[in-house]
Amino acid sequence: KATRPSQPLSPQNVRDLFASVDAFLFDCDGVIWKGNTLIDGVPQTLEMLRSKGKKLVFVTNNSTKSRRQYAEKFHSLGIPVCEDEIFSSSFAAAMYLKLIDFPRDKKVYVIGEEGLLEELERAGYTGLGGPDDGKKMVQLKPNSLFEHDMSVGAVVVGLDQYINYYKLHMVITCRYGTLCIRENPGCLFIATNQDAVGHMTDLQEWPGAGCMVAAICGSTQKEPIVVGKPSTFMMDFLLQKFQIDTSKMCMVGDRLDTDILFGQNAGCTTLLVLSGVTNLSTLQDPSNNIQPDYHTNKVSDILKLLE
Ligand code: PLP
Ligand code: CA
Repeated sequence: KATRPSQPLSPQNVRDLFASVDAFLFDCDGVIWKGNTLIDGVPQTLEMLRSKGKKLVFVTNNSTKSRRQYAEKFHSLGIPVCEDEIFSSSFAAAMYLKLIDFPRDKKVYVIGEEGLLEELERAGYTGLGGPDDGKKMVQLKPNSLFEHDMSVGAVVVGLDQYINYYKLHMVITCRYGTLCIRENPGCLFIATNQDAVGHMTDLQEWPGAGCMVAAICGSTQKEPIVVGKPSTFMMDFLLQKFQIDTSKMCMVGDRLDTDILFGQNAGCTTLLVLSGVTNLSTLQDPSNNIQPDYHTNKVSDILKLLE
């Protein structure tokens, strides 16, 4: 939607933004928090927006937690948010399976963490793998042979700190991946997200789910169905749930190729905050062709500029 260079948020345009927007969609890492540390001024800004009747929605690509766990995280940081307002890529994976009527008698093999397994199980699916398979090893013996498990109908891949050769073997060349490629072409390959890096801790970036997904693409030559930002799946889901007009929505994020694209693809107004992974020089670099409508240093500038 944005064809002109991003405008810095100003007392004038923040008033226009505020007047035209009914719902604010917030990305989490780099916007609300960084790792486990709250970004300055966020609770007060969210409280003000709520008090003015704005709808708040939180959309995160980090699949390691469930919505229940994110609600706990918000509360522990002093922000009252309920599960219904949270859209994590772990939840999106479960909702995607529901949308396509994935059969309940088929299992889902998970390269991912507890939060992803929890969402799948809450939606009524049987998850295999997850952190438990992180302790398993492949025995490279001449007579090693794993039998195909035809009950697995989908492989779901998100960030997995316990990823290992065993899991890759399971999905790529052995039990389940073979199903994707040769034995059972109907076996789905779903990625929660493809972020290159993420803030597993506050001060440093760590490899994101993108590298786990790429390991599988590299070997299978298959492309995943991606349910996290910037895919339109999560947006369509939340639009249907909340019945909001996208022209009255503002997507606030710190990453151009996920958050800003996610908002732009849906026709939302977009606001880039520089409190996360994108700095001003990246935004203004001639090689960058994703321009949000507005940019500002951090979320609390909305509060400051409206005063
Ligand atoms: N994936 C992982 C593993 C992360 O650690 C993060 C951020 O910390 C993300 C994705 C991106 O999350 P968000 O969409 O909230 O910025
Ligand atoms: Ca982010």
